[in-house]
Amino acid sequence: MTSKKHINIITLGCSKNLVDSEKIMGQLQHGPFRITHDADGPSDIVVINTCGFIGDAKEESIDTILQYTEAKKQGLVQEVIVTGCLSQRYKDALQKEIPEADAWFGVDNPSELFTYLKHKYNEGSQERLITTPSHFAYLKIAEGCDRTCSFCAIPLIRGKFISRSVESLVEEAAELARKGVKEILLIAQDLSYYGFDLEKRSMLADLLRELVKVSGIEWIRLHYAYPKNFPTEVIDLMAKEPKICRYLDIPLQHISDPVLKSMRRNTDKASTLALLEAFRSKVPDVALRTTLLVGYPGETMAQFEELLAFVKETRFERLGVFTYSPEEGTKAFELEDTISDKEKQKRADKIMEAQQEISFQLNQEKIGKTFRVLIDREEDDYFVGRTEYDSPEVDNEVYVTKQDDIVTAEFYSVRITSASDFDLFGEKI
Ligand code: SF4
Repeated sequence: MTSKKHINIITLGCSKNLVDSEKIMGQLQHGPFRITHDADGPSDIVVINTCGFIGDAKEESIDTILQYTEAKKQGLVQEVIVTGCLSQRYKDALQKEIPEADAWFGVDNPSELFTYLKHKYNEGSQERLITTPSHFAYLKIAEGCDRTCSFCAIPLIRGKFISRSVESLVEEAAELARKGVKEILLIAQDLSYYGFDLEKRSMLADLLRELVKVSGIEWIRLHYAYPKNFPTEVIDLMAKEPKICRYLDIPLQHISDPVLKSMRRNTDKASTLALLEAFRSKVPDVALRTTLLVGYPGETMAQFEELLAFVKETRFERLGVFTYSPEEGTKAFELEDTISDKEKQKRADKIMEAQQEISFQLNQEKIGKTFRVLIDREEDDYFVGRTEYDSPEVDNEVYVTKQDDIVTAEFYSVRITSASDFDLFGEKI
């Protein structure tokens, strides 16, 4: 009896890449393979699903490839296969630079990898091997992006925006619920654009109206919204549908009009403030997460100060910041990268300093209040979970004092007893 070939899938980058890996594994599991994900140790084949978004991510991907080609030299791995965004973007050059890797595949034709592994590829199959804890999963509602942000290489890598049908997404959500998933996180490069390629209008609200009907799913979370064309009917839905988390991840990148213009964000300060105000007024307890980009070519100190003031005034519940990195093929790459890496980092640190203070104050206001908490894991003297205002891996966590009748993947009412900058502590009531 021939033993199954061990394939270890390594995922780098974002949750969208993770879903791609889960789908590759979902099909390969039916073949003569033993499948692991991000496992340490030897394997017959390693498939590295790379990220090619910005400088640091590219570096991490190349380091990971070299780590495994080195392991191959030591006989710990027989074959090194590279796929994902970095390979899509730089396959030809990297093949010459790292000849030790056995095969390179892009993202636009997943069947090629299956042909190489001599396993039948089932076009359209949405079967997945879930790698997240069993009670939450990402639901990728579209591929690609039609926006023209000057600093971003994703449209060059992932191509045009392609929405999945509402029916196929509801089916996948129901399948996830059958597997015990209670929280689904809707992801795409740009959630706001969902449906425009299908019916020339946003269909995000349509999708949500169907997803809230899926039994077993208790939390639906929205990630990667775009400020322009954001379907405001979603705000009303969020206000009345308890299954839709009062949470929105909406990367804004900047707020100064000249910078937004140069970034080709097709939006401006006034409409951004109006959209945030609409959320604050219709869903008063909404947790807004954003991502900002500092050190963009030509960003003056005054424009940076305007961004810092915006952060202090808006008091986002959650915030992340990136420093600008020039990406070949993007419009901004033609601009002179005028700001030093040291100065870029200084600006990013100032933003996070202000955010840390805001997060601390907002968390203090939660002491004494009771929240519904979904338990993700057990850790030392605590069970660790999240409220509906917190997304996995990026946001605050709630440390719940251990009690015998608490188990993971269940919801509990928790009264907050203390708080730190980014975490809460409490007791099940
Ligand atoms: S919306 Fe802009 S930043 Fe986001 S993936 Fe599309 S082009 Fe890139």
